[in-house]
Amino acid sequence: STPPPGSGRFAPSPSGDLHLGSLRTALLAWLFARSTDRRFLLRVEDLDRVRPGAAAQQLADLEAIGIDWDGAVVRQSERAALYADAVRRLREAGRTYECFCSRREIREAPSAPHAPPGAYPGTCRDLSAAELARRRAERPAAIRLRSDTDGFTVRDVLHGSYEGVVDDLSLVRNDGVAAYNLAVVVDDADQGIDQVVRGDDLLSSAPRQAYLASLLGLPAPTYAHVPLAVNAQGERLAKRDGSITLTDLARLGVKPRDALARMARSLGMQGRTPVELLDEFDAARLPTEPWVVTAAASANAAQ
Ligand code: GLU
Repeated sequence: STPPPGSGRFAPSPSGDLHLGSLRTALLAWLFARSTDRRFLLRVEDLDRVRPGAAAQQLADLEAIGIDWDGAVVRQSERAALYADAVRRLREAGRTYECFCSRREIREAPSAPHAPPGAYPGTCRDLSAAELARRRAERPAAIRLRSDTDGFTVRDVLHGSYEGVVDDLSLVRNDGVAAYNLAVVVDDADQGIDQVVRGDDLLSSAPRQAYLASLLGLPAPTYAHVPLAVNAQGERLAKRDGSITLTDLARLGVKPRDALARMARSLGMQGRTPVELLDEFDAARLPTEPWVVTAAASANAAQ
């Protein structure tokens, strides 16, 4: 008997319109999932950076380029109970502590003797009862993971074995909302996601997330961190780079299907719909370089 299919996913933050690079990441996530007979799920990561209306536009844009998904769209803002349950389990296992540090205090703290650069220096890890009482009176606490390792290794389809920093990462922000890493780990497991395809800006988060999953007794997914889109200067694609969303492109007369064809060509494929691309898709032959998106190419795509 064959095991039930797992799932892939796309999990955008609804902070604005998807640009060509994000749409291409979504297309790749869809291709990875569908080419391996997985379900494809959509999750709106609306715990922060929410712009009203953006989520609906993102879903409409995905549909416009021919990406479909299974089941209802999941919204992180509706899942606080799941996150709280995971935090409770970690707390009961002695794996959490309260943290009162502001961003600035973290930035300015001397780094801990063994902590890698950028890691939380552990300022609040071992506060005395008196200190804890004093800090609690000052401001609300965030909750951090009491990690017992400095690093963790994940396997990535495109990057091979990747070891990255694990620090005392934040689980709950000091406004009580689940932090990004916790929500992703809890949701991926809860949704049966066993394949995570996303931009390679998140590669360095994967070890933290896989470690957290292991502490919660959850299976770690397979990862594929795909190259991002950049502008002519090699910087991450942004609004100021001109016509990079489907709405921008529509103004130039570029249709969603033309945008899709352009993404496909950037991946070395000729198909004109996601379904056609499935026949050509070969994860082993994906470009490993960032995709350079220029305004001139957007204008040309109109012709
Ligand atoms: N919501 C994150 C983003 O849009 C992606 C999270 C993930 O794919 O794990 O950057």
